[in-house]
Amino acid sequence: MELSPQEFIFRSPLPDIPIPTHLPLYSYCFQKLSQFHDRPCLIDGDTSETLTYADVDLSARRISAGLHKIGICQGDVIMLVLRNCPQFALAFLGATHRGAVVTTANPFYTPAELAKQAMATKTRLVITQSAYLEKIKSFADDSDVMVMCIDDDYSSENDGVLHFSTLTNADEREAPAVKINPDDLVALPFSSGTSGLPKGVMLSHENLVTTISQLVDGENPHQYTHSEDVLLCVLPMFHIYALNSILLCGIRSGAAVLIVQKFEITTLFELIEKYKVTVASFVPPIVLALVKSGETHRYDLSSIRAVVTGAAPLGGELQEAVKARLPHATFGQGYGMTEAGPLAISMAFAKEPSKIKPGACGTVVRNAEMKIVDTETGDSLPRNKSGEICIRGAKVMKGYLNDPEATERTIDREGWLHTGDIGFIDDDNELFIVDRLKELIKYKGFQVAPAELEALLIAHPNISDAAVVGMKDEAAGEIPVAFVVRSNGSEITEDEIKTYISQQVVFYKRIGRVFFTDSIPKAPSGKILRKVLTARLNEGLVV
Ligand code: ATP
Ligand code: MG
Repeated sequence: MELSPQEFIFRSPLPDIPIPTHLPLYSYCFQKLSQFHDRPCLIDGDTSETLTYADVDLSARRISAGLHKIGICQGDVIMLVLRNCPQFALAFLGATHRGAVVTTANPFYTPAELAKQAMATKTRLVITQSAYLEKIKSFADDSDVMVMCIDDDYSSENDGVLHFSTLTNADEREAPAVKINPDDLVALPFSSGTSGLPKGVMLSHENLVTTISQLVDGENPHQYTHSEDVLLCVLPMFHIYALNSILLCGIRSGAAVLIVQKFEITTLFELIEKYKVTVASFVPPIVLALVKSGETHRYDLSSIRAVVTGAAPLGGELQEAVKARLPHATFGQGYGMTEAGPLAISMAFAKEPSKIKPGACGTVVRNAEMKIVDTETGDSLPRNKSGEICIRGAKVMKGYLNDPEATERTIDREGWLHTGDIGFIDDDNELFIVDRLKELIKYKGFQVAPAELEALLIAHPNISDAAVVGMKDEAAGEIPVAFVVRSNGSEITEDEIKTYISQQVVFYKRIGRVFFTDSIPKAPSGKILRKVLTARLNEGLVV
């Protein structure tokens, strides 16, 4: 008899909790409203305006009524093309109350990209701001998509554009009662497009309630957040990280969410000081800017009790450097993806925290299963062995929008979502990400993880930023090459950089070429866009 291979399944050290997945997202988020009624909920970092929980709930119910009035039905799609602002949160919550589905878009997209997303999602209403109105009108004018503008001073003179006040001035008593099933769609965010085109991700009420609950609910939550907290929200709200792990987790916990429109390091320091931010959610480019800024001592940043980073790899050295700058804060990583929300979070953030190791990207969240599979055989692997990270549970998306084949490739028959990320779980349940499967460089069959070399490069004082990609090579198949941004005034040479790396790594990880550049292309969610750099190599645009 053939023995089936042993399955190694990893779970959180924290016990599972009951998750109220029968509740629609809106009711779940505001379930404890009576406790937080008068507490600050949303703070606008630009205008200092603060909305309490009662204000936000009332506005959202009015928006729900207003949406109903202009003909938005349950299941209709609303597209938000907005920078970070309180109206983003209000529109999202109001739509959710209405039983509508929100698709979020990067406002810097071109008109063609926005049009494509609107078409693919069958958007009925776009909510935007004056700055992007022309882009939206360029495609909405020839269709029956409604357009709405949030700016106070915008007057729509017969141009067919609605004003946000149409929603916020509606009578909340006219918000229709809707029957929402846990399986109904609530959000259609798009992935970052790091590995190809961004993919539309279908998330249900159950998916989002689960992802929030497994972080912030229970006696000893993974990401302990409470009503005295001030959560920094400078990451783009159109991306799942800010939407889910900051905004919605913050609201569920009764915390105040400080909404910052634009990342600028000095302004950020000022806002942290002014509002006494307690939890700062970052991505590696912000951590890098903070560490390299040299200005941290000029501000009182001591209110920060937790610094979370995620969305892209962050090496242990950078982690140590940021800890030196913010000695009062606990530092740790989260690991997540649009398709499943947070998969892992550092145990340093639990109510009863445990010690963590630098470079770890967390421990699998509760109410979920994780396994690491051999990319060749598909067998699950034991601790300390690297393979593709897979996740299973009610958090996993319903599928990719309009793409059943991609869905089938990603979620297998047993319900495991294959992340495309390579990592391992150590003896203390900590997950370490090596890199993305598709981004590993193969030098004569040896695997080189760009993230590891990037961490070494940016630790150099004369390098302010760096990215590594594979370059085609006749002899080796591929060789690692680096794009490097020199620090101000530095004249570091290609040879010096190559020597610096070769002193620290095995022969096959040595850097073959160094190309100096002014900046590293990154997605707004903080990821290095290696495909842009590879295209530069292929087109011979580097010297
Ligand atoms: P696309 O799927 O369109 O190529 P994307 O995968 O970058 O884009 P997201 O859903 O925004 O889109 O990002 C999820 C990915 O981000 C993960 O699969 C992983 O590669 C990366 N990631 C997230 N958190 C971490 C982390 N802490 N360390 C390393 N990588 C991370
Ligand atoms: Mg992805």
